[in-house]
Amino acid sequence: MPFCQVIVDIAHEDVDRVFTYRVPSGLTLCPGMRVHVPFGRQRQVEGVVVGLSEDCDLPESRVKDVCGTLEDYPAVLPALLDLAKAIKETSFCTLAQALRLMFPAQMRGERIAEKTQEIAVLTVDPAVRAQVLAAQKRAPKRAAILSLLMESEGGELPCETLRAKLGDVRPALNALREMGFVKLDKREVLRSPYGAMERLAAQDPQLTRQQQDVLDTLLPAVTAGKGAFLLYGVTGSGKTEVFIRAVRHAAQLGKTAIVLVPEIALTPQMVMWFRSRFGEDAAVLHSRLSPGERYDEWRRIRRGEVRVVIGARSAIFAPLENVGLIIIDEEHEGSYIADNTPRYDARELARMRCEREGAALLLASATPSMRSFALAGRGDLTLLTMPRRVNNRPMPEVHVVDMRKELAQGNRSVFSGALLDGLKRCLDAGKQAILFVNRRGYSTFVSCRSCGYTVTCTQCDVSMTYHSAENTLRCHYCGQEQAVPTVCPECGSKYIKYFGTGTQRVEEEVKRFFPDIPVLRMDNDTTRQKDAHERIIGQFRRGEARILVGTQMIAKGLDFPNVTMVGIVAADAMLKLPDYRSAERTFQLLTQVAGRAGRADTPGEVFLQTYDPEHYAIETASRQDYRAFYEAEMVRRKRALYPPYTLIARLLYEADREADAQSAAESAMRQMEAFLERRAYLRKYVVSLRVMPCPVKRIKGKSRWQVALKIVDKSVCQEAVGKMSEIARTPLEHCACVCQVNPGSMM
Ligand code: ADP
Ligand code: ZN
Ligand code: ZN
Repeated sequence: MPFCQVIVDIAHEDVDRVFTYRVPSGLTLCPGMRVHVPFGRQRQVEGVVVGLSEDCDLPESRVKDVCGTLEDYPAVLPALLDLAKAIKETSFCTLAQALRLMFPAQMRGERIAEKTQEIAVLTVDPAVRAQVLAAQKRAPKRAAILSLLMESEGGELPCETLRAKLGDVRPALNALREMGFVKLDKREVLRSPYGAMERLAAQDPQLTRQQQDVLDTLLPAVTAGKGAFLLYGVTGSGKTEVFIRAVRHAAQLGKTAIVLVPEIALTPQMVMWFRSRFGEDAAVLHSRLSPGERYDEWRRIRRGEVRVVIGARSAIFAPLENVGLIIIDEEHEGSYIADNTPRYDARELARMRCEREGAALLLASATPSMRSFALAGRGDLTLLTMPRRVNNRPMPEVHVVDMRKELAQGNRSVFSGALLDGLKRCLDAGKQAILFVNRRGYSTFVSCRSCGYTVTCTQCDVSMTYHSAENTLRCHYCGQEQAVPTVCPECGSKYIKYFGTGTQRVEEEVKRFFPDIPVLRMDNDTTRQKDAHERIIGQFRRGEARILVGTQMIAKGLDFPNVTMVGIVAADAMLKLPDYRSAERTFQLLTQVAGRAGRADTPGEVFLQTYDPEHYAIETASRQDYRAFYEAEMVRRKRALYPPYTLIARLLYEADREADAQSAAESAMRQMEAFLERRAYLRKYVVSLRVMPCPVKRIKGKSRWQVALKIVDKSVCQEAVGKMSEIARTPLEHCACVCQVNPGSMM
């Protein structure tokens, strides 16, 4: 075909359409291929071919030639080209932005290349080898190279290996090449992220009745290539084994599968599980990969060398063909939503991919999101349940400890008497314990006892967090550090102290009570280095420490058989956040954390310390009663008109000067009001439309204002959201704007 239609890689409204180019003779193109094309005043830009045609409506003289291709294969598969178009429609972004999701960022601008290795290959006929070797007697290095090559498998070795063994081999290799005994090849080496990983035994357990029942429904759907399921299985019910069997079933049918897990749960443990069952057939995509590893994994997938991809949110774009199954584990996790442009929800994209590509969808959780459980109630998802733990292991026994009483009795420690007793019992029995500190919304901050002054970040409108190891204050939004004041800058009082319970504080307390017990801590501070996460988990798993103190990071999906006790130091910290999902998040977190206890043969014990024992989220979590929580929460959501009854869309304005953010937000507000004024059929669904500063007024020096719309969740209401995103795309001089729908964070 002589012409092609190209989307150029420029994320601007004005060029958000196809441009036609001539395909020079000798070049074969197909949709999805990336090309260089001349564009405007720029000599060359990158673009993606989205179509081919015989003719063209423009005068031939105005059509320019494609300069060339970036790869000799389509980087964007046809199905993903379609998905990008759908994302453009639902996320209100440009097609160029949607297409960028489909391949590693470093491929743009050719910032990444294949890694190659030089290989020395023996070219001497086996019959004359001894003779050739003998002839090099007086050139010891040449002789050494030849004999190493002759001994090696296939008669070849990387030059790097020769150099490591023999020192500088370059002149000798060149000489051997000139004599025709050796040739030098360049060969690609794949950067593999699996190097240091330990392997687990890979035996199939006998399925439990529940697992079998679930698979009996699920597998036929994978075979048929349709169906969408919600698996509600309590912690420890064996969901992972269900995933493995379902993926294997897909593979046996010659299909492929994607397994999404929250970034935080992408521990080597999960990866190991799959690698030990699927070996080289599994690829992993997560944010800790180096750009090179990511690029190589992506190409392994693209070349069809893998059957299953495990990854965080963006793995939903994995370039797999013939997808038969998409699994989303811990589907309630907020991390499946990408808040920035292009905004997307991986669960919704998964559903689209499944429907378009003929695959079954499985969402799974011990604490399903309100939305998914509501969809299951309506029949939009088929509910599968696993209400019991594997081998009928008991659910952990949860003790709710009222911290107000502890305080009244004069206990000022972070630990209640009950928790300390439980910890002692656990340690005496030779078991391990986890102490969970809910960091989000409840960290150590420094404040004055005389006047109430709190040290806040100068760049962000949040209190600074105290880090006892370095004795400094750090902002968790921008990373800025400052020294701890010794007198109050407001009133001069010496009574300025730190409050709250951070992981460091808990670790110190543990060491005070149990000086001889080895303790590990896992939080943002101790996991900054690459692989730190893995190292700590490995140490704890091997029993090198008896107590693990940690934040959210330890709550997800980790399976430590020897842990029989879990202490939740401050259960209700997160309840106080100004977000309609606070109760849901608290319930989920408490249930997940409690689920870490007693997963092998010894029953578990959980101590849940709270100042608010009557709160329904705490109370239902202590009974691990998801349905009771769901019912209570839905009543509250309905009364307060929160999602899933409504949807919340907001325009977030950020500017150096507050006045700019405010006036931009106010102008957007007026536009929205005028828009709704003309549309009575929409107006009646609007619950509220407000302009105001964000709960966190400043982040990284930027002032933040928002226009928040709450509207009944009906398809017609998408029109209002569309208007908001149109407003968001109007360029502003001193202000940035994004449009978010049910944003992951309302801060
Ligand atoms: P969940 O993800 O539902 O919380 P896991 O998948 O982590 O639960 O399984 C909990 C534990 O039960 C794991 O240690 C797992 O190895 C084990 N397990 C799962 N299925 C079986 C089975 N059929 N037989 C024996 N043990 C199993
Ligand atoms: Zn003061
Ligand atoms: Zn800051």
